[in-house]
Amino acid sequence: METRYCLVDIDTLELYTNQFGGELPPMTESQIKEYFHEIDIETITKKYSVKLYPLDEKHLCRHCKTPLAKSDIDGYVYQCFYCAEDFYGIEAIEKDGNIYKLINTDTKDLFLGTEKAVIRFANDKLNDKGKKWMYLYQDRLLDMGFVKRNDAEVEEITNIELAIKYLQTVEDIEVVEIGDILKELQNNEVILLSQEE
Ligand SMILES: [Zn+2]
Repeated sequence: METRYCLVDIDTLELYTNQFGGELPPMTESQIKEYFHEIDIETITKKYSVKLYPLDEKHLCRHCKTPLAKSDIDGYVYQCFYCAEDFYGIEAIEKDGNIYKLINTDTKDLFLGTEKAVIRFANDKLNDKGKKWMYLYQDRLLDMGFVKRNDAEVEEITNIELAIKYLQTVEDIEVVEIGDILKELQNNEVILLSQEE
């Protein structure tokens, strides 16, 4: 897929609006050139004082579902110009990725999540074995619910293979990759589980 961009006013760093105050949708380079009737992007950025922010089509705004741009603020990963909000990496909705099912064979608790969610879950387990499971997340994050790391000794689990390997070695957790059959979960990332404590 061709990269799409958000047009942002260089001075205010807010979404560029047309003369009627309307917001422009994310556009490809050729669409931008067509819109401004110019033959090159450099001319457009100079003439209209705009900056182009490439959008990450795999990470969407949790409010308006638009692909996110990189944040300009230290500590944040993404920003949505349409909602004028910055997000941490974990707050973005992950668009693609396989869905995994985790079953606690002891309590029968069930967890469904994207790769990112499983990695996060494994890290939570790794950091606090006393706490189990998470929270409900449908179209918005209801509760961050993460276990705070209390020391730097624990190595972070950074990919899905490590996460599965780790979870399969801790008690009573079976990990099943279920592919993308649960399409509706792709924009929701995670789902419920029972809670303890
Ligand atoms: Zn948004």
